[in-house]
Amino acid sequence: MTPAGPAVTIAGGGLSGLTAALRLGQRGYRVTLYEQKSWLGGNLGSRPMPDGEHLDVYPHMYLEWYANFWALLEEVTGQPKEARFAPFSTVKQLSKGEFPKFASLTDMYSPWHMFQNMFSGVGTPADMFVFGYASIDLLAEKFNPTVTLDNVDVNAFLNTRPYMTQAASDAFDSFITRVWAIPSYLASAPDFRRYLAYSILSPDPAFWLPTGSGYTEVIDPLVKAIEAHGVTVVTETEITGVSCAGKRVTEIGLRSTRYESDSGTWAPLAGSDRTETVENLLLAVPAGTLSRLVRTAVTPDQQSIVEEAPDIAGIVRLRATQVPIIYLFFKHKLDGIPVEPVGLFDSELSLAFTDISQTWRDVPAFAGKTVLAVSSSDTSGLPGTTSLADAQAMLEELSQFLPFRPGTKWGESPDIDWEHTRYESNADSQLFINQTGTDAWRPHASSSHIANVYLAGDFCNNDVGMTTIESAVTTGLQAAKVIVRRTRHGEPVTIIPPPRNWLYDLAYVWLRYAWAPSVAAASVWSRTWSFLAKGCAKRPSGLPWLPAPRGGVPGLQWAKRPGGGGSAKEDPEGGDADGPSGGRRWMS
Ligand SMILES: Cc1cc2nc3c(=O)[nH]c(=O)nc-3n(C[C@H](O)[C@H](O)[C@H](O)COP(=O)(O)OP(=O)(O)OC[C@H]3O[C@@H](n4cnc5c(N)ncnc54)[C@H](O)[C@@H]3O)c2cc1C
Repeated sequence: MTPAGPAVTIAGGGLSGLTAALRLGQRGYRVTLYEQKSWLGGNLGSRPMPDGEHLDVYPHMYLEWYANFWALLEEVTGQPKEARFAPFSTVKQLSKGEFPKFASLTDMYSPWHMFQNMFSGVGTPADMFVFGYASIDLLAEKFNPTVTLDNVDVNAFLNTRPYMTQAASDAFDSFITRVWAIPSYLASAPDFRRYLAYSILSPDPAFWLPTGSGYTEVIDPLVKAIEAHGVTVVTETEITGVSCAGKRVTEIGLRSTRYESDSGTWAPLAGSDRTETVENLLLAVPAGTLSRLVRTAVTPDQQSIVEEAPDIAGIVRLRATQVPIIYLFFKHKLDGIPVEPVGLFDSELSLAFTDISQTWRDVPAFAGKTVLAVSSSDTSGLPGTTSLADAQAMLEELSQFLPFRPGTKWGESPDIDWEHTRYESNADSQLFINQTGTDAWRPHASSSHIANVYLAGDFCNNDVGMTTIESAVTTGLQAAKVIVRRTRHGEPVTIIPPPRNWLYDLAYVWLRYAWAPSVAAASVWSRTWSFLAKGCAKRPSGLPWLPAPRGGVPGLQWAKRPGGGGSAKEDPEGGDADGPSGGRRWMS
């Protein structure tokens, strides 16, 4: 059936744009969706490979509480999630020299698994108790605030806690860096609190991994459903500018694109510029692109969005970061790799990996091989000279954890299947970072200044907060909902709110006080042990009755980053314990 409703032009074929397109298509809107790349799905999408396989921008974890996402998926596939995803509750951690001894963390922030995680081997039991208690303490802030969380980062919150130990604070930093790709001293504490609250309410299983690529399991069925509702999808076409007149957007600029492998970005095709009038416009592009588009009219004599709606200018404050990835095909099976996602402890580049040859089913190219998706969430340690130098740096660090020969340059290792192995800088698919203080600048789905422009994307204001698949779907639904309301066409769009339970919120307050004596004892134990270990390390012979902790004596670890945490390593120069703050410093 040809749609006959109001026309909507959508810029951006990521999950938020696709979600909105589906809901509008279902209601008979005449939807045209423009996507800059040759493939759809944005950050949840997959790059097509020469052999016909698809490799994800990033192998995502799909949390159990993503209610809108799961509902959407079941709707477009007609199958329960079990048909395409496998359940998990545990993540693994590996320290240098420990392979194949992986530590397990089950539902890592949950009070219900706190005692199990205390003995996971990730840290000392005392520090793991402090780590778990700090999550409860942050959750208790909702009903029993002790600090004003607005504009407070996770690190600052932890530092207000008298019981906090350096090791527990470092563990927070390490996990947040790997999951959010920003250090805890930048990560928004209110967003993190909400993320914890939702995760704890849906613990079993904590998350799901797809049994194939994001393309086969999610994006392809979604695109087919959209097209079945008459949505026109135009790829390799980007929106270059938006013009306004009389409090409405009137025209957009368009041009064709092509991929430039040197820069890993999509470049304009010369001579392909054109314009198009619009009735309603939904911008579902990344924050950086949106910031540029709202300032750019199609021609200089026309009005831009920001001239009509100056409050949108603040989105320039929103930041995103690259998370490069290697799809590492070994020539053989590497025994001892777990099926769960693995974080590498003390990794300078914040490396993590998932063995997709165990999670994906029936991929001929994976037969008889281990295939790891290896990502780096802290690119500040990469050489940054060439893509291959960055890739080789990741490989060399990985070889300090796993038994293989990295070679001295990309393409040299005899253990790797170089025909299939790929490195992607992901320069064209960046992760929005939930940085402290940016909440106020996250835009809403519609503007009170301009009647027919709408916004969607994980960075837009939404109840989920953290950058997730669920926030992308939610903002797509929010945009579709307001379009339907304003244009008065079709059934209202429904959105499932994130899980909430005030009894849990009260329980966190109770646990905060009930476990306060225990956390004080754990903190004293950790500090005393660390102090003695430091003293022990200064003596040539050490104290024979004091066990050396995993990864070396805490007093001998060296933090490279101001603000603490993350990649700790032995100080090559033997610096001083009370070194200047902001530079190298010793930590206990
Ligand atoms: C490395 C990484 C790891 C992640 N891990 C997880 C995870 O484990 N679990 C989880 O829940 N979430 C994770 N996320 C977050 C999740 O992928 C995103 O929140 C979600 O996919 C964002 O969808 P979106 O539609 O908001 O934006 P995007 O996916 O960024 O989509 C925007 C689209 O707009 C297109 N575009 C850009 N400019 C233009 C233009 N001018 N004209 C037309 N089109 C344009 C882009 O090509 C893109 O397709 C991760 C994200 C990244 C980057």
